[in-house]
Amino acid sequence: MIKWRRRSGKKNKKAENAEPEYDENSSEQEIASPESEQIEPDPEPEDTPEPDAEEILETEPVSADQIVPEDSIFPAGSEIDDPENGKKGSFIKRLKARLAGTRSVLTTRIDHLVLNIKEINDDVLDDLEEILITSDLGVATTQALLDAIGGKVARRELDSPQKLKGVLREEIVHTLDIPPYEPETAAKPHIILVVGVNGVGKTTTIAKLAQRYKQNGKKVMLVAADTFRAAAVEQLTIWSERVGVEIIKQQTGADPSAVAFDAIHAARARDTDIVLIDTAGRLHTKVNLMDELKKIKRITAREMPGAPHEILLVLDATTGQNAVNQARLFNEAVEVSHLAMTKLDGSSKGGILVAIAKELKLPIRYIGLGEQMDDLKDFNAAEYVEALFD
Ligand code: GDP
Ligand code: MG
Repeated sequence: MIKWRRRSGKKNKKAENAEPEYDENSSEQEIASPESEQIEPDPEPEDTPEPDAEEILETEPVSADQIVPEDSIFPAGSEIDDPENGKKGSFIKRLKARLAGTRSVLTTRIDHLVLNIKEINDDVLDDLEEILITSDLGVATTQALLDAIGGKVARRELDSPQKLKGVLREEIVHTLDIPPYEPETAAKPHIILVVGVNGVGKTTTIAKLAQRYKQNGKKVMLVAADTFRAAAVEQLTIWSERVGVEIIKQQTGADPSAVAFDAIHAARARDTDIVLIDTAGRLHTKVNLMDELKKIKRITAREMPGAPHEILLVLDATTGQNAVNQARLFNEAVEVSHLAMTKLDGSSKGGILVAIAKELKLPIRYIGLGEQMDDLKDFNAAEYVEALFD
């Protein structure tokens, strides 16, 4: 492993052809400038987070033993039940079951509403508004959906209450149907930076992705750039052993960018295909999380132009509207490529996907439907809406 250490002074790395060293200031990794000889692993941040940002990012820390469930290890022979695997029927069935919480709030109530009305009038639209807001579709999305429905009613294109659900469905699919994110170039290693607040499911999602890529014949490396808590490094290490992939880590408190730096060089040397970087969700109060992530991104791009090839933001569906704020903050800081929405199985707030699509236009790449290894699914707008409404 390429170790991060302070620069020893006058050393010209290129001339000596030595192994690469982490130097956050040098843009070319050539002769270190006098300032870069003084690298501190944890520089003091200049700005403190806005109070509202702090509140948005505040979640309960989870300890390692809580988060690597003993019995959630993929049983021998378990396979990824991918929607693309020609098992569409059974997949939708399973999706439906996992989305039971959201279905009961959204679909059951809409069905009930439609059954009991004869025409679509303002009272019906008021009831519908309340249902949509309760399912966490958000005010903007709800308003847009009501406007679309109101317009159709006015134009007499929506003449029976029974068609209401169909129109709603169409509008929701349309909102969710955002062109997928495509990295500009295919690269090896392909570097995925995974970000999100504590407890949303970053580390578990990384384990699930590692498992998937490995099953697809890829050589995978995990990177423990959540160096703030010892438990976080431990948790990722356990996953790397269970999935059977490599891990790059350093001691607790190390500069996350230095760990990422190590990983890129190690991945190149070891012919790795996929690098998954796990990051912290909340840092010590002195350190600004967003600055830290920006720095990881900057160092990664410097060491490998074009990297990170994906910035995957993980959001927890049970947090509801707060997820929209999180998405906005992370997107502003690091420019998110796409999203993974976890814990849809335990949530009645599945409408949040629609709210985020509407307000941020960020593509949803994965959905988490449980704690098992094969519970991370590719997101498909039509399937999701089918599972919610049928
Ligand atoms: P991190 O702090 O963002 O790295 O979050 P973790 O990956 O440690 O996950 C926190 C908890 O969420 C763990 O108990 C996971 O098992 C659980 N979790 C993650 N994804 C899902 C999901 O899709 N459904 C459910 N029910 N639990 C999940
Ligand atoms: Mg974690």
